[in-house]
Amino acid sequence: MIAPSGQIADADQPRPEISVVVPMFNEAENLIPLIARLTPAMERCSASFEVVFVDDGSTDDTLTALRRAHQLDPRLRAVSFSRNFGKEIAIAAGLDHARGDAVVIMDADLQHPPEMIETFVERWRQGYQNVFGQRVDRSADSALRRALTLRFYRLFASFGETSLPPGAGDFRLLDRQAVEALRAMPERARFSKGLYAWIGYRSVGVPFEVAERAFGASKFSYRKLTRFALDGLMSFSTLPLKVWTYVGTLISLAALAAAIYFLLRTATHGVDVPGYASLIVSIMFFAGVQLMSLGVLGEYIGRIFAEVKRRPLYLVAERVGVEEDSSPVGRARTPRP
Ligand code: UDP
Ligand code: MG
Repeated sequence: MIAPSGQIADADQPRPEISVVVPMFNEAENLIPLIARLTPAMERCSASFEVVFVDDGSTDDTLTALRRAHQLDPRLRAVSFSRNFGKEIAIAAGLDHARGDAVVIMDADLQHPPEMIETFVERWRQGYQNVFGQRVDRSADSALRRALTLRFYRLFASFGETSLPPGAGDFRLLDRQAVEALRAMPERARFSKGLYAWIGYRSVGVPFEVAERAFGASKFSYRKLTRFALDGLMSFSTLPLKVWTYVGTLISLAALAAAIYFLLRTATHGVDVPGYASLIVSIMFFAGVQLMSLGVLGEYIGRIFAEVKRRPLYLVAERVGVEEDSSPVGRARTPRP
């Protein structure tokens, strides 16, 4: 059932003031330590809260642990996906199911200290609608990942269509108005960091220290991170498409200059046969440039294809303490009239 406000209604529970959304992918062992710190922290800062866990197709006991947690405390609720859809989509599902006036997003591995939420809520009560945690250092990440992250942010900034505040990630509080703005974005390639910056609203950063992961290892391989970085760049910039116009123009000008040079040289010195090597090299170079630009086109067309298919963003296999949505397949992301 969809409530008038567009949120998924839940008959037997009053609407909480604050919702916490936690994406979880194989985080069973982190659940109890997380709840042990999150619940008291939330009780300190709000009279009513709920936690919406999104089980992103975990293959361990995450779902069982979530069911048990809901039995012990009905404020802890969960949505479980039919398979792994990725953290960005898990966050989108969490926002769809959260009913609070403000929604906090945080990781399950205790890298985001739950005690910080108190400060977030204070800022929200002061009137900020987009309160983001800013990591003061990245020492919890490996040196390689830090170096690549730095490169990525430089590149993103130089493409320059949306600027990201330094150190800001998913750990944040969003006012209901900002949540609805994010929910109204129909795209499947979801680069949340960019979307949070794009929506604007009264924003403020709160510095925090990222802790070490409590249990388990990071769920992001370098391959996943590369994909994510490409998604980020391509969904926030058309520069990679346009740059080929300039590269092409430069190469054509160079070719024109070479043609004139050869013409003059043939006129003055006659024809000569050598030059085979340079010919092969230039053919290979231009073939490479063309394939590269085709590849960039392919990346964008692939994304257009994914968007036009209009598949639902995610499929829910089970809801724990969350009332059944009327559609069997989550929310088809078509704009509401
Ligand atoms: N996560 C998820 N789906 C995924 C990968 C990760 O829901 O496909 C969740 C994960 O369970 C955790 C959060 O996203 O709560 C951050 O993941 P992780 O700690 O592995 O990333 P890192 O801290 O290394 O960026
Ligand atoms: Mg982590």
